[in-house]
Amino acid sequence: MTLDALLSALGPQVVQPGDAANRAYLTDWTTREPVVPLAVLRPGSVQEVARALEICSARGVPVVTQGGRTGLVGGAAPLAEGVVISLDRMAAEPEIDAAARTARVEAGVTLAQLQEAAAAKGMMFPVDIGSRGSCQIGGMISTNAGGMRAFREGVMRHNVLGLEAVLPDGRVMSAMNGFLKNNTGYDLKQLFIGAEGTLGVVTGAVLRLRPAPSARVTALLRTPDLKHALAVLEALETHLAGLSICEVMWPDYYSFASGFRGFDPLPCNSRDDGLTLLIEIEGAEEAPLRKGLQEVLEQLFEKELITDGAIAQSLRQIEEFWALREANEGLPQAFASMASFDVSLLAEGSDDLIMHLTATLRQVFPRLHCLWFGHLGDMNLHLGVVDAGGGRIAPEDVARIKEIVLSGVLEAGGSIAAEHGIGMAKASYMPQILSAEEIALSQTLRAVLDPKGIMNPGRLF
Ligand SMILES: Cc1cc2nc3c(=O)[nH]c(=O)nc-3n(C[C@H](O)[C@H](O)[C@H](O)COP(=O)(O)OP(=O)(O)OC[C@H]3O[C@@H](n4cnc5c(N)ncnc54)[C@H](O)[C@@H]3O)c2cc1C
Repeated sequence: MTLDALLSALGPQVVQPGDAANRAYLTDWTTREPVVPLAVLRPGSVQEVARALEICSARGVPVVTQGGRTGLVGGAAPLAEGVVISLDRMAAEPEIDAAARTARVEAGVTLAQLQEAAAAKGMMFPVDIGSRGSCQIGGMISTNAGGMRAFREGVMRHNVLGLEAVLPDGRVMSAMNGFLKNNTGYDLKQLFIGAEGTLGVVTGAVLRLRPAPSARVTALLRTPDLKHALAVLEALETHLAGLSICEVMWPDYYSFASGFRGFDPLPCNSRDDGLTLLIEIEGAEEAPLRKGLQEVLEQLFEKELITDGAIAQSLRQIEEFWALREANEGLPQAFASMASFDVSLLAEGSDDLIMHLTATLRQVFPRLHCLWFGHLGDMNLHLGVVDAGGGRIAPEDVARIKEIVLSGVLEAGGSIAAEHGIGMAKASYMPQILSAEEIALSQTLRAVLDPKGIMNPGRLF
């Protein structure tokens, strides 16, 4: 029996039968129904991951790798006939090398843990996402996470210098280089970035760090519509070298966020009040940053690109402004069900597209609210479609909503899988997303690395 083989090779500290495992391992952020796998494995070393994969591969047992289970496409949900490999015990203190500007991390380190370790040495890791307290570096690599700073610092792909992964048959591929420039043929680490656990288990990485800025200024701005918001972004980027954050919230989202958090620093009274931007600039000293921002904002007011604004005056206010943007973490609590989307749009025409999709959805389902928010800097927007009364949306209505939004975005030349990936949720859309040649080549690669098809079967494609 597979369970016995795993237990005798790795011991009870690593292997728990599925029905005895902590329930946290039985779901991920998006799957509410728990699935009990054969076993939950919590290896503490690369060798233990390798031994586990060797056994699963020899027996053709499916493997689902879990990081922090914050993924939003169901990629880390267990399979009843498979095992879960959780990396949460591989979370040793990150090794920060400030001179080399690198961090060596085990895959189970959370983003918050890395941020803290880097900050202690005056450094920062440039990819920041809302699930920072739980998501792990291995999960972020496997989903090629993006987040708030991507328009300036890139996504995970641009910030991973070296990587270690265990292949499905148990071989270890170690390419833990710390160089930005290292042209030695195929860049194999890139295969595992964004692979969503289909090509192996990421066990470690060397990440790129930057010196941490010593000052930042945060503001909320109100702007009439998306066209104006994009003009504000352009002006801020042109006039302020340190623009590091530019997030956007549509009125329905802002109303939800201020209600959910219980504070409203920039009151928004109706849907016509316009969009709210959260911006941040950073640099060496606060006073010049503040002065520069105030000057630019005055010009933006004069040009009627913004109609209201508030610059945070205290750490508490900074936290409040951020809490509004990150109120999306409360959406599953606030609404019984939600159809959620993660799209990248071309700036040109996006205002009309969003208005059209929102109007179409409201026409078909008058009870629904469309909560649009996201990363204006790179036009990666999120949409949560919810029942305004807090009720459950019927599955056939969810299907109709998906059809309206996804076909609208694809027709407009956008991406329907911007930063959260494919997982289970979007696997059936792959033929609409990739060409037949891209799918065939991806399947060939997957079959070469995982001939028995044990890694995250049914996910991605
Ligand atoms: C409140 C909230 C805010 C979010 N904000 C953002 C955001 O701004 N930007 C963004 O990009 N995402 C965001 N996300 C989505 C999610 O946090 C990211 O996709 C994150 O990178 C997932 O990391 P994780 O460790 O939780 O991975 P998991 O959810 O555990 O796994 C995700 C996928 O990666 C695979 N995987 C996990 N670890 C490994 C490993 N070590 N080796 C191989 N495969 C592995 C899993 O099998 C699965 O397919 C957000 C989610 C929430 C809940």
